[in-house]
Amino acid sequence: MAPTQAYPSIQAFYKREVPTQGDGFTEGELADALDPLNRKWDPEREYEESGIAELVPGPKAVTFVGRVVNVSTVWGRSQKQPKAAGWHYLILKDDFAAISIKLYFSRKEYPLKLGQLLTIWTVFISDASKTDTTVIPSVLIYANLFPGRVTSDHIMIHTNSSTDEICRAPLDYHKDRALPGLMTLDSYIRSGHDGVAGVKILVCIKSIGARKRITTKKGAERDLAEIILFDHTSEARCTLWGELIDSAKDWQPGKTILLISNPGYRVGYSGKGNIGIQHSTMIDINPEFPDAHWLKKYAAGLTKKESLCLEFPEDVWDIEAAEHGIYRNLYTLAEIDEWVRSEPRQVFTGYINVTIMEMSLVLHHRRNMLMCTECCGIPIYANTLHTTCLNCSKPLTLSLNPKIIGTLLDETGSIAAGKLLWSARAWEQLLGRTPAQLSDMKGEEIRALEQRMGFLRMHLVFGWAESVGRLAVLGMCM
Ligand SMILES: [Zn+2]
Repeated sequence: MAPTQAYPSIQAFYKREVPTQGDGFTEGELADALDPLNRKWDPEREYEESGIAELVPGPKAVTFVGRVVNVSTVWGRSQKQPKAAGWHYLILKDDFAAISIKLYFSRKEYPLKLGQLLTIWTVFISDASKTDTTVIPSVLIYANLFPGRVTSDHIMIHTNSSTDEICRAPLDYHKDRALPGLMTLDSYIRSGHDGVAGVKILVCIKSIGARKRITTKKGAERDLAEIILFDHTSEARCTLWGELIDSAKDWQPGKTILLISNPGYRVGYSGKGNIGIQHSTMIDINPEFPDAHWLKKYAAGLTKKESLCLEFPEDVWDIEAAEHGIYRNLYTLAEIDEWVRSEPRQVFTGYINVTIMEMSLVLHHRRNMLMCTECCGIPIYANTLHTTCLNCSKPLTLSLNPKIIGTLLDETGSIAAGKLLWSARAWEQLLGRTPAQLSDMKGEEIRALEQRMGFLRMHLVFGWAESVGRLAVLGMCM
């Protein structure tokens, strides 16, 4: 018997409606009948609250809560439910078990997404091995629902954030024990996809590609979007189809963690492995267990290191004191390196005296890469200050691409300038113009500026803080 958990009580979600008097339908009632999510549902019997693990095949009025870990939609006629326009295949799971569900709809599909918390009311549970649907490992039971037509069935999609904590533990998770079947992405791609049952991989979203429409061999139009997944060992592509693309809209590159159970595998065109999502795949979004917390932290650190153009943090350093205070130290690059390695927690500022060994203004201007930013986990470049993300259509403001400066050198060492984080003020002091003015410049002017700046020797005011994770340029003077 699984330990009990405090599931939200049904009374909290279900308000009893006062039955309306008279006969005939109002327009509102007709609309409600067509859209079961709006329908006033007044059940004639009592439903027993149950965890999914306690559900047993057979007739009984039960209600249970679970998160959507797989969803797909089929439009078409069903012999069993001729009034249905189509149905969803769903897998719902709570902390201890999962159930597969065939959910019919009469006209409009349900706005279902991965990760949503649903409450289901039904009066019959089936044995999953005795139905016509695919048998899924660890999914033993099955329910058929047609809310709106079958008066004993009902469904509720919870959108209230107070339910965020519910049903987040992976199946088979026990505190202080490794999650059974969990493997790294690298071992999964190398050999784990080959006949290993109960495989789980834990990954973070790296990027989310744009939605594309393709025509299949059968002539049907389908939407797809490609996402890149990673863990500390490898990277893999994954193609999302149909309603799964909408689910991915809420995912954040570098932040959202997925636990994928029973993933599909196919060899990608690059020869690398692709992760597939099939009927038996279960996707837990931001699951609650120590490995997921670890990966989230790892991803945050990685994003900080790899990100091209982090926003300049305000209020970390006292720039006024750094430039005009009593304690103004001149460091060599070797000394900074030593400080950062031995006392990474120390927040400090100082001066360095360096020479610009190389400028790449012309190159980046020609490549249309003078400015950069990041959206949807993808670096975005332009020669202008403003553009829109091709993926999510968000308007973006770009900042100067730190790679327009090559190596900086002093007597003790060098630093790749692309690794520095420049404040807007430092950029302006260095270039003698604002980024907006730079973006207006023509090819010849750019070339002249580049030549003026090569081998320039200057003092830079820098700041270090572990939370920023890279050397910041606060200002400069010749
Ligand atoms: Zn975007």
